[in-house]
Amino acid sequence: MTKITFALVALLAPITLAAQTFASLSETVRSFVTVPETTVALAHVRVVDGTGAPPLEDQTIVIRSGKIAAVTPASQAQVPAGARTLDLAGHTGIPGIVGMHDHTFYTTSGRSVQLQFSAPRLYLASGVTTIRTTGGTSPYHEINMKRGIDRGETPGPRIHLTGPYLTGPGGSATMAQVSTPEEARRIVTYWADEGVTWFKAYTTISRAALGAAIEEAHKRGLKFTGHLCSVSFREAVELGIDTLEHGFFTNSDYVSNRERDHCPSDMRASLLQVKMDGPDVQRTIKAMVDNHVAMNSTLAVYELSFPDRPPLEDRVLEALAPEAREEYLSTRRQTSARAAESTMPELFRRAQAFERAFVKAGGLLGSGVDPTGIGGALPGFGDQRNYELLLEAGFAPTEAIKIMTLNGATILGVDKQLGSVTAGKLADLAVIRGNPIAEPATIRNVTIVFKDGVGYDAPKLQASVKGQVGIR
Ligand SMILES: [Zn+2]
Repeated sequence: MTKITFALVALLAPITLAAQTFASLSETVRSFVTVPETTVALAHVRVVDGTGAPPLEDQTIVIRSGKIAAVTPASQAQVPAGARTLDLAGHTGIPGIVGMHDHTFYTTSGRSVQLQFSAPRLYLASGVTTIRTTGGTSPYHEINMKRGIDRGETPGPRIHLTGPYLTGPGGSATMAQVSTPEEARRIVTYWADEGVTWFKAYTTISRAALGAAIEEAHKRGLKFTGHLCSVSFREAVELGIDTLEHGFFTNSDYVSNRERDHCPSDMRASLLQVKMDGPDVQRTIKAMVDNHVAMNSTLAVYELSFPDRPPLEDRVLEALAPEAREEYLSTRRQTSARAAESTMPELFRRAQAFERAFVKAGGLLGSGVDPTGIGGALPGFGDQRNYELLLEAGFAPTEAIKIMTLNGATILGVDKQLGSVTAGKLADLAVIRGNPIAEPATIRNVTIVFKDGVGYDAPKLQASVKGQVGIR
């Protein structure tokens, strides 16, 4: 690697953060904009700022040239002359959600589809203004999606690109199946040159290949995450990984006599047996916290394997294409039919406890939907569902919002620019009708989503993908 490459990487990062204006948007994108003005006052709004601070009632947020200019009590607001003022009494403003496991592909038991059209729209419609793709099955689709969004041609969130998954020989057909450290380095180098900023390892990679890949990514200033199994959490921490996906569900630290570099078949049994407040679990958490390894919660996708959950939502069924809907509902029925022998309720509770313990120990937790599995956790909708599941885990509402916003920005290294409702940051905000602190389900009622201070009509974006999820 030359010094020039490094300088380029550093130069490219802020470009994606430059504010986008209404004037730079295509006709298609403009058709979803409901607040095009560059100076806007959101008056009488409740603010949950994403830092974990208590909610502030009756505030005015002033947006100017794509940034948050001021957040003050409404009675003291100095609204600039010529500003468009929106009276948002009864509404709540939160930071744009930062989706840390937000693929642009989608699966059911019967299909895996790149959602080039519907995913970016649904994310934005749900208040998700930044995503990390966290493993691509069609990386050039994602590279071009990001370019289209950044150029103002397509509505969608800011995208942090992740390259294709790296796994071991015999793994999934959509992944790079890596046998040697040299191969791992070659793949990282290639995709780094193509502009991805994250990499992700999958369940059958070897320690040698993972270690080499991480080292190569770090040389370029890029980051590495994993949905692991063959390499345990503690081993991955030792290899220098930056984040771990899914939390407890993918943690193979507790399998006794584990054959190294192999994904054990009895991992789930070990997770159901280990003492949650015992030394083994504490050792994993301490290793992660001491080495600043963040974790991303994806409760919404695992909940799909929990019999009779989540509650069926009309908006999910409406967004799905008929065949995808049938595939989802049929797998859901099979899960219900096996409810008596399901270990998922217990495993889910343990995963929630692990996330709480991790945060309590000082760990940095982000969250994301992961719109895969049996197909009921849709882009954006599942990010919102995570809010309720984090509350169920025992997090306070303001803490859950922080996990979904500022913590993600911190993991991505963009927390100086976005992630909280703070003067000086980019105006990425979700306006919600109602009070999600008192009534969690209202997190679904996003009315306007601001990205770069441009206000998008959330229901209109959502309506534009009806019947499309599962096809395009
Ligand atoms: Zn994933």
